[in-house]
Amino acid sequence: AISLDQVSKWYGSFQVLQNVNLNVRVGERIVIAGPSGSGKSTMIRCINWLEQHQSGRIVVDGIELTSNYRNVDAVRKEVGMVFQHFNLFPHLTILENCTLAPIWVKKQSKKDADAVAFEFLEKVRIADQAHKFPGQLSGGQQQRVAIARALCMRPKVLLFDEPTSALDPEMVREVLDTMVRLAEDGMTMLCVTHEMGFARQVADRVIFMDRGEILEENVPDEFFSKPRHERARAFLSQII
Ligand code: ATP
Ligand code: MG
Repeated sequence: AISLDQVSKWYGSFQVLQNVNLNVRVGERIVIAGPSGSGKSTMIRCINWLEQHQSGRIVVDGIELTSNYRNVDAVRKEVGMVFQHFNLFPHLTILENCTLAPIWVKKQSKKDADAVAFEFLEKVRIADQAHKFPGQLSGGQQQRVAIARALCMRPKVLLFDEPTSALDPEMVREVLDTMVRLAEDGMTMLCVTHEMGFARQVADRVIFMDRGEILEENVPDEFFSKPRHERARAFLSQII
């Protein structure tokens, strides 16, 4: 479970997160939507300390994120992240991308790490490409590898930051299908995405952010059919 309690963050004098409160239960799927610049990426990056909040509390699975590096490391072992631009290591093979952190951070043997990596590469249906380099794969394939790589750390939560928005349209479906299967397995997921079909299909809740605030939290059906907040209505009319 994750809780954000009155979380605020500033870049200089600009307040990017304003007293954000959010509770995510184990197994819950949350979609985060909102206009560009509303603080979506910043919020999820705070959950694994890629960005630091300046006031309020963030607790992940009972561990509070503070500048205590023991806590930060403990949280990062539980929270996987998938980025818009994949962020695979270009000079490592697909298999090596998946085993690097398990070997160096979790101290797994190469043999065990390889076995786990193949399990998850099978799951994202790309095990036959294990010995290629990222540059030899399509964008959709690379993003599926990035998902497998995150899974190899056996996280309790996966954070996605617009995982399909850098992909060519014909590759979006394969990545979304992978995410749907993860959701069906019961993974706790927070997804920043503009894929509203995905939100309808898997989200338990949609969170609408604007100007650093959560303005609305709603089940997808209601969010899409009768958004409560005027700015949510304006946002939806632009993207749908
Ligand atoms: P998008 O949909 O475009 O990805 P977002 O909702 O993810 O937007 P953030 O990336 O969280 O928005 O940015 C929120 C605000 O904070 C923006 O106004 C952005 O310009 C500002 N911002 C982000 N990172 C920094 C930084 N390192 N320094 C200063 N301002 C920043
Ligand atoms: Mg963003």
